[in-house]
Amino acid sequence: MLEDKDQESTPLQQLGEFGLIDHLTKGFSTTQKSTQKGIGDDAAVLHFGDRKTIVSTDLLIEGVHFDLSYMPLKHLGYKSVMVNLSDIYAMNAHPTQITVSLAVSNRFPLEALEEFYAGVALACKIYGIDLVGGDMTSSQKGMIVSVTAIGCAEDKDIVYRSGAKPNDLLVVSGDLGAAYMGLQVLEREKEVFKVNPNSQPDLSPYTYIVERQLKPEARKDIVALLKKLGVIPTSMIDISDGLSSEILHLCKKSEVGCNLYEDKIPLDPTVISACEEFKIDSTLVALSGGEDYELLFAIDQKEFPKIKGNPNLTVVGHMTDKNEGAHLISRNNSKIPLTAQGWNSFSEKE
Ligand SMILES: [Mg+2]
Repeated sequence: MLEDKDQESTPLQQLGEFGLIDHLTKGFSTTQKSTQKGIGDDAAVLHFGDRKTIVSTDLLIEGVHFDLSYMPLKHLGYKSVMVNLSDIYAMNAHPTQITVSLAVSNRFPLEALEEFYAGVALACKIYGIDLVGGDMTSSQKGMIVSVTAIGCAEDKDIVYRSGAKPNDLLVVSGDLGAAYMGLQVLEREKEVFKVNPNSQPDLSPYTYIVERQLKPEARKDIVALLKKLGVIPTSMIDISDGLSSEILHLCKKSEVGCNLYEDKIPLDPTVISACEEFKIDSTLVALSGGEDYELLFAIDQKEFPKIKGNPNLTVVGHMTDKNEGAHLISRNNSKIPLTAQGWNSFSEKE
């Protein structure tokens, strides 16, 4: 659990709830103008003037969403914040504050929570957000993390899942499938370790995909890039559950159909080689893997010259009339219906 196994371990009972919160949050200062009152009262006070407030929250459960046998606590703290910031960026908004709540069993000493908060602090520093509150309690078993992110935007800039029109281009940032393949590598090494605890895994060929799993980044840079290019998407979502499920959300809320082109899906070379090694279809990984935290959005065709050739953005398809449905156009030009469980339905067809 702790990076340094020889580190001392302080039982949480020594500090009590309020002592613990004070201890873990004493290094956090506030930098956002909108933070009128942060930690230290019954509630935080935020002041956004006439801008709109955006709020998103996520719950992460040990054994369901994360496995501490290969997830360092500092990374977990960082990733818990990223997952939430990603949802704020997916509204084309800017996160400004977070609250972090934890429930932990007595197997966690103070030093473990300090590592978790070091990850939270790093995320706050890099993304320029303030920690303004949270809760701390005990759990019977394992760790539960709840993060709420608060952000703001001008009304005219906010992008919803609804709003895409037929013929809009469908665009994705970065590349897909790496976080899922990183998880496959970590799960495999965990099994090897169970059999032989002295084994030293060489993860160096998998650096990119393992990092995408353990330390994802929310795409603040893409929101800034769109602003710079003068592009406001017609609809947008972040990719947490896999490309096909997110496309279906956009189609449903926008009341459109979609053609996604298999040969356009951006894949990193290390994802392709890991897929070959694990004998998994890379398209299936991109469609259903999830945890990429890239942004998926639609733009009017006349905006295409603004994004053309940008290495961070890939046009992967276009929206169609609702009655045409949502499809993957495969490399051999067959038309396969997209489903939220793209993995199963696609493999049935093969
Ligand atoms: Mg989302």
